[in-house]
Amino acid sequence: MLHLYNTLTRKKEKFVSLQKGIVKIYSCGPTVYDYAHIGNFRAYVFEDLLRRYLKYKGYQVFQVMNITDVDDKTIAGAKKEKIELNSFTQRYIKAFFKDLEKLNIEQAEVYPQATKHIPEMVNLIKILLKEGFAYEKDGSIYFKISRFKDYGKLSQMPISNTERREQADEYDKENPSDFALWKKAKADEPFWQTDIGKGRPGWHIECSAMSMKYLGESFDIHTGGEDNIFPHHENEIAQSEAATGKKFVRYWLHCKFLLVNNEKMAKSKGNFFTLRDLLVKGYNPSAIRFLLLSTHYRSALNFTEQGIKQAEQALKRLQDFYLNINNYKKKGSISFTRRIEETKIGFEKAMDDDLNISQALAGLFNLVKDANIAISKEEICGGDLKEIKNLIEKINTVLGILEFAQLEEIDKNIKELIEQRGLARERKDFKLADEIRKGLKQKGIILEDTKDGGRWKKIS
Ligand code: AMP
Ligand code: ZN
Repeated sequence: MLHLYNTLTRKKEKFVSLQKGIVKIYSCGPTVYDYAHIGNFRAYVFEDLLRRYLKYKGYQVFQVMNITDVDDKTIAGAKKEKIELNSFTQRYIKAFFKDLEKLNIEQAEVYPQATKHIPEMVNLIKILLKEGFAYEKDGSIYFKISRFKDYGKLSQMPISNTERREQADEYDKENPSDFALWKKAKADEPFWQTDIGKGRPGWHIECSAMSMKYLGESFDIHTGGEDNIFPHHENEIAQSEAATGKKFVRYWLHCKFLLVNNEKMAKSKGNFFTLRDLLVKGYNPSAIRFLLLSTHYRSALNFTEQGIKQAEQALKRLQDFYLNINNYKKKGSISFTRRIEETKIGFEKAMDDDLNISQALAGLFNLVKDANIAISKEEICGGDLKEIKNLIEKINTVLGILEFAQLEEIDKNIKELIEQRGLARERKDFKLADEIRKGLKQKGIILEDTKDGGRWKKIS
């Protein structure tokens, strides 16, 4: 039974979806004013792991991820380049999708853009005005937090603690801790002419309006990085629950920051790497994905390039093992049947415990280690290795780190080279045969000529 840590209750809770068999998730997505950094991708990879594991468990997943394409930063960026806001943000939206693909992050079902949902936001603000949760001042509209008695329930900040709750808006409000729902149009800034005046939305309202549009007034899971808890998600709850009177979200999940020298990786700190930066340096995107997902999402993860190198090694061990399995034909005497079943159960038990990936991976790598030993002693039988291969493929639907098509291609190329070598030897062209053997050795492939024919092994 899956348990997830709910930020709202600060407890691990049994996960039960509102609708049987379907899970509805909203994830806070990128603000598209620049390339996303890999701190952002820690959040998106964690959300992908959650999504994939829910699917592994048989749920149908419907996930929505917003794209913030109008805010202070996007407006400033477009202004600086003297181009339309839309052309400016389009560049980073495209880059974002390319990065997702590189990291093998599954696509959400919907990626709503804020600028395409202004009427939905205006409607929600109208309800809040009508019900007395919002007020207008000098052409802007604010949420009055003193009217919403549950304010602070997610961040668990007492309502009296106004100092910490102060929300940085340059606009003039009745109370510094109120927040903007709608910002009056300014010269040089894009605006929309609407029933509530000429202006543009505040940041928080887009997530309430767009999540409820696509997922309903109450839905299962809302995710984001830990910096989203306050004020963003606190404000989303206030806006949504004040308007509907219903519980907005059942499970709130937040991942811890990706750190650099124990500080949050952030654009503003200048201590960030984009995915592109790392790919240019020659790192493998699957290893970056592996690094980001292999630490539990609620544990701190300190980023180093050494960390990517270690992830590359671990990934290579798994890839090489997979290749070796394809080429093992012996009939050993030790049965792995029970061990394989236990590894599968162990993986699920660990993942059911709030996605305890470190433990889940440890079980898989132990199996690989022991199977490798059994392969070298020729104690394992081909049938069991096939079962292990099936298990790796199943687990990889969750991990998304192995590219089987690519591995099969490598396997095919190696077999072709080995065949060519055999033919060269038949022709007594020992020079060519030797060159092929050396070339393979450089790739970590060791050939063994046995009495039943040639066999090869990939070593890490
Ligand atoms: P932003 O584009 O700043 O709105 O952030 C998009 C997502 O990335 C949000 O869910 C943030 O919480 C998350 N995020 C930003 N920086 C980090 C970081 N260093 N580690 C983990 N998540 C982050
Ligand atoms: Zn959001």
